[in-house]
Amino acid sequence: MDTKNGFAATIGNTPLIRLAGLSKATGCEILGKAEFLNPGGSVKDRAALWMVREHEKSGALKPGGIVVEGTAGNTGIGLVHVCNARGYSSVIYMPDNQSPEKIELLQTLGAEVRVVPTVPYKNDMNYQKQAGRFAETLPNAVWTNQFDNVANRLAHYESTAPEIWRQTAGTIDSFVTSTGTGGTLAGVSRYLKEQSPDVRIVLADPMGSALYSWVTTGQPLMSEGPSITEGIGNSRVTDNLIDTVIDDAVQVTDQEMVSMVYRQMAEEGWFFGSSTGINLCAAMKVAEKLGPGHVIVTILADTGSKYQSRLFNAQFLAEKGLSSAH
Ligand code: PMP
Repeated sequence: MDTKNGFAATIGNTPLIRLAGLSKATGCEILGKAEFLNPGGSVKDRAALWMVREHEKSGALKPGGIVVEGTAGNTGIGLVHVCNARGYSSVIYMPDNQSPEKIELLQTLGAEVRVVPTVPYKNDMNYQKQAGRFAETLPNAVWTNQFDNVANRLAHYESTAPEIWRQTAGTIDSFVTSTGTGGTLAGVSRYLKEQSPDVRIVLADPMGSALYSWVTTGQPLMSEGPSITEGIGNSRVTDNLIDTVIDDAVQVTDQEMVSMVYRQMAEEGWFFGSSTGINLCAAMKVAEKLGPGHVIVTILADTGSKYQSRLFNAQFLAEKGLSSAH
């Protein structure tokens, strides 16, 4: 028998997929870690499991407890699955600029969803801060605090990165990904740099984020936005991201991202979400910079199904001045 024991045991060990068209176009091996194949559908299942386990180990989360989080969606989705499987309930705070599909999915899964006005992090009514305050008012509740809880990056240090190292037989030249909390980039960077300091770590940033500027100048200054991407980009350097070795950063526009996801769909059969589009464009830019013959790994974070009403809606794209031409 070759089986996996339940939900948690099905998280991770995702395939590393060769993206044929992009590899051919660059002469590099462009490889995508298929995080959309996690059982909750995204890269955030790993962080969700690691954060819940951390609170169980510390004793803060006891049987029948409540998990509270502020999330743009995927962390919440991962958390609700993990909570349901372990007998916890979940309360999810979300900013009101996210796709309706994510809210509906969270509600379907059984979370109490609190959609709050989108305000900057420095405002006390920011969704993350509201989540933290609410958890404090409840008995037997924890705030998983994905942005500044380093159990998030530990998930990628202990699982995603060793898988990538093994799957590329140590031949990886560069790892590039966009960041929301920074957990994926920070955890993978730490592990890969320990295996070989020569692995080039590159941060991919959408417009309207401060991280490109932070990596390239040391100052987190916001670039001109906004971007229609969801779950990535940040105005601040989180505790997960801080002290991470990052060799370079690339910026990707929404138009580049949109053309990439439509091309991947029409020509290669994939149905990717917006952060994956940013990641693939960034991988192409890294390939152009390094030249042919390099092995470049990125993250295939989730599929397009949560973005049907926006990224895959012609009217929405037209309103944003974007084109699906590729
Ligand atoms: N892609 C998607 C679709 C996401 O939801 C997220 C997390 N918000 C990321 C990428 C970024 O991952 P991380 O939080 O580990 O930086």
